[in-house]
Amino acid sequence: MDVIDYEIEEINKIVEQIICNSKIVACLRSLIRINIKQTLSRQITVCIRFPSNYPNEHLLVELKSLTISGKLLDGLTTLAEQKASEIQGKPQTLYVLKFIDNYLRENPLCIAYDEIAAIKALLKQKNDLGTGGGEIKCLQKTSMISLKVNGGNYYYKAKFHVPEEYPTKCVQMTEHKSNFPITLLRFINGQAKEMARKCAEAPLRACDNSKFEVKPSLLPSLKFIIEAVVDFHNEMCPVCGFMCLPNDPSDIEVKDTADKYVERVFCGHIYHLGCLKTYVRTPPFPPNGKTCPAKKAHPRSDHKGSNIALPKKTKKTDVDTCGIRISHDRWGLNVKLAEARWVHQEARKRELEEVKDFLQ
Ligand SMILES: [Zn+2]
Ligand SMILES: [Zn+2]
Repeated sequence: MDVIDYEIEEINKIVEQIICNSKIVACLRSLIRINIKQTLSRQITVCIRFPSNYPNEHLLVELKSLTISGKLLDGLTTLAEQKASEIQGKPQTLYVLKFIDNYLRENPLCIAYDEIAAIKALLKQKNDLGTGGGEIKCLQKTSMISLKVNGGNYYYKAKFHVPEEYPTKCVQMTEHKSNFPITLLRFINGQAKEMARKCAEAPLRACDNSKFEVKPSLLPSLKFIIEAVVDFHNEMCPVCGFMCLPNDPSDIEVKDTADKYVERVFCGHIYHLGCLKTYVRTPPFPPNGKTCPAKKAHPRSDHKGSNIALPKKTKKTDVDTCGIRISHDRWGLNVKLAEARWVHQEARKRELEEVKDFLQ
């Protein structure tokens, strides 16, 4: 009985007890094939072959998985073969199987490997452009990802838990911190959570639920946050053309009735409250309501995916503008009201002029 026979017998006898949720598919001199299913998304098939000179050469390992990234599997294969060569001359099979099982257990974020790589690439691209950027760290012990993004003097930090049931269950955001004004922070958090949820949950009122497919939620959610955070400090008020956010975050207007208070409207553009008020209350008053005069559509508009129809762009000059009707919870002003107010204000101005004339 040689080493290979001995190892085959050992694997047959104990591997399914030693490695939780493992199953022997084949255990022969020509091939050992074991399935390991740690969680729904951490499933791997380990194929092992004995080289002719075994055990004086390391085992040949091949890893397959429908849920784990191919790049990560390549790296893990190399690591496993290195581990095997460290004990060359001795039995390696059980040692290698345990190593692979432990590695996946201790690195639960491996299921989001490709997404994490894409987030890193996006951050690198932003860092290289120089107007903002950030970093992410993998906290494998807690299956968390810590994200820090900045745009100008503004920052946003949060941690994202990748649950065992990922991607069936979406990422969960915790511990967020930021120096953005509260309206923008609420938008970032709300949207990021909603995006993540939509990846994992079928829409409630969908006509055809059978079409719904669970998607990984980490990348869409973090990509959204990174782009929003990097862009916000550079966004101009479509009315006055100046930056909406003050360069120094400590100058943020917190009073929600002040002119410099920053409001975000339905189309996604941000305004100074004072500018927005003036714009909404000044003619012309088109029959479909005042539309956003920003130079182009906003990449993070609430309009995308909503059921509200775009107002028809009639004039040629409207082609290059955002053109979406201005609407906001606090700004649900209808045209008639705005018009009436304007007429009233003009009348009042005229009265004052008359009084002034009279007094002179
Ligand atoms: Zn303004
Ligand atoms: Zn707009």
